[in-house]
Amino acid sequence: MSDFKKCCICKNYSWFPGHKCFPRWKVFHKEYLGEDYDTIYAIDYKEAAREYGKLYDSGDYYILNGEEITIQVEPITGGERKTFIITGETEPIYYATEKK
Ligand SMILES: [Zn+2]
Repeated sequence: MSDFKKCCICKNYSWFPGHKCFPRWKVFHKEYLGEDYDTIYAIDYKEAAREYGKLYDSGDYYILNGEEITIQVEPITGGERKTFIITGETEPIYYATEKK
């Protein structure tokens, strides 16, 4: 019997058993982490960058309020380091509920 659930290691939803965690990435954000880095599980460079932006922004929403951050992403096993600019936006949602 297989289960679709959240992996407690990489936090991605997948079928179990048979799940393989996404690759790990080092994310460098000098202004916030200094010389340190965060480890992110993601399918590729861009998703790692986006996921870091989401985590960084949770709580204060600086990015959603217009801040741009520049970060660098590198495979945890070493390799090319790529630079990304993270931006975001919110989309207002309006509801109409008929009053009876
Ligand atoms: Zn996993």
